Amino acid sequence: MFSYEIIDYIEKYKKKFFDVSKDIWDLAECRYEEYKSAEIFANLLEDEGFEVERGIGKIPTAFSGKFGEGKPYIAILGEYDALEGLSQKRDTFCYSPLEGKNSGHGCGHNILGVAALMAACALKYAVEKGDLKGTIYFFGCPAEENGSGKTFMVREGVFGGMDIVLAWHPECITTITPSGCYAHNGKYYSFKGKASHAAAAPELGRSALDAVELMNVGSNFLREHIPTEAKIHYAITNAGGMSPNIVQENAEVLYTVRAPKMDMVLSITERVDNIAKGAALMTGTEVSERTVNSYADIITNSVINNVIENVMNYILPIDYTEDEFLYAEKFCNTFDDMAIKSVASRFVKEGISQSEADILTSKSIYTDLPKFVHFNASTDAGDVSHIAPLGHFTLTCFAMGTALHTWQITSQGLSSIAFKGLVAASKIIALTAFEFLCDEKLVEKAREEFENSIKENPYICGIPENVFPV
Ligand SMILES: [Zn+2]
Repeated sequence: MFSYEIIDYIEKYKKKFFDVSKDIWDLAECRYEEYKSAEIFANLLEDEGFEVERGIGKIPTAFSGKFGEGKPYIAILGEYDALEGLSQKRDTFCYSPLEGKNSGHGCGHNILGVAALMAACALKYAVEKGDLKGTIYFFGCPAEENGSGKTFMVREGVFGGMDIVLAWHPECITTITPSGCYAHNGKYYSFKGKASHAAAAPELGRSALDAVELMNVGSNFLREHIPTEAKIHYAITNAGGMSPNIVQENAEVLYTVRAPKMDMVLSITERVDNIAKGAALMTGTEVSERTVNSYADIITNSVINNVIENVMNYILPIDYTEDEFLYAEKFCNTFDDMAIKSVASRFVKEGISQSEADILTSKSIYTDLPKFVHFNASTDAGDVSHIAPLGHFTLTCFAMGTALHTWQITSQGLSSIAFKGLVAASKIIALTAFEFLCDEKLVEKAREEFENSIKENPYICGIPENVFPV
């Protein structure tokens, strides 16, 4: 039933694509600066015969590749952005950043993007061979980290009309995302006060740093009066300087509010806004606000998820060598005990017994078949899921217990375990997409479920109209 052409293509070209993932890992370009990475992807798609459009959604590092014609429109999402502060030498077992490099692929997007890219190319190959009708889209999506690139792309209408959208994320376990993912937004609060000599003329000064501190105190009291599942995080991004003898004229704090749904995020944010205003009033300063990113919750689709599960059962499990288990073990030794327990607790939350969860997480590499487990983070794929039916999964690419956004992820980004994950993910995406290309009724069923979900959970874009990517 499954397309042999897809498997053949991937087996034949996997080495070439893995080299691309190494190039992306080396570049490690951060949000909205992924010029070279995006160009590598776009050029490769052009060479493969895709019609490429650069700078889509008014973002220079976003692009699309299109092949085929007519319905269904099948979209595959790829990311390639890195993170600041997560530079790390490959295959090292203690923190050792690369000299002269600050950024690193600490979320595995070098694997994510290239697996998606290879899937699009393999799918095109199979479509050509099989005389199938339909259009394959590859969307190059920048700034997933801290920039919510896809949210801006959604706002510009980039994904409109897609019938099926597929996305994945490298992880330390293999899961199919049934629902969930926090909605969240990020907002800067900048306070403007008045500088003065802190001892000679304190009465003339108005401290912006005092305002930030009072705002944080207020928000910490607010925490008790928000829904239990909501979270508030903040980072002081400008503390006003290094001199205690100057009253700080400028200070800034970045807030992130997370909650299961965007309406809850926005209502909590309104209360944080008021706390900021109160802090400004108390200190005689002025405050201005600026939203920088916004991520909706994920609406997943059981029709797509069931196809993903069937394909996964066909492709998985992956075989690992003794050396690979030992390699992974060395990373496990760099985590505290809680890391693996915390992964097990994700299974338990889904109703899996503690003892079975302990078995699942007992080896240094997750080797079991997929489980339906929530993706415990936020992603801008959530915004896409409110526009079109989305299937999302995670796949083992790292040692058990490895947390995203750590040097351990950067370090493992080019390992043979990551390579095997990349290849398997690529097959899963392409074979899933192929099933929908072959079955119009299945596409309709996914659409029907999507329309029903959207009625109960309509899309709220958390980004004000006058805000653009930064
Ligand atoms: Zn990520």
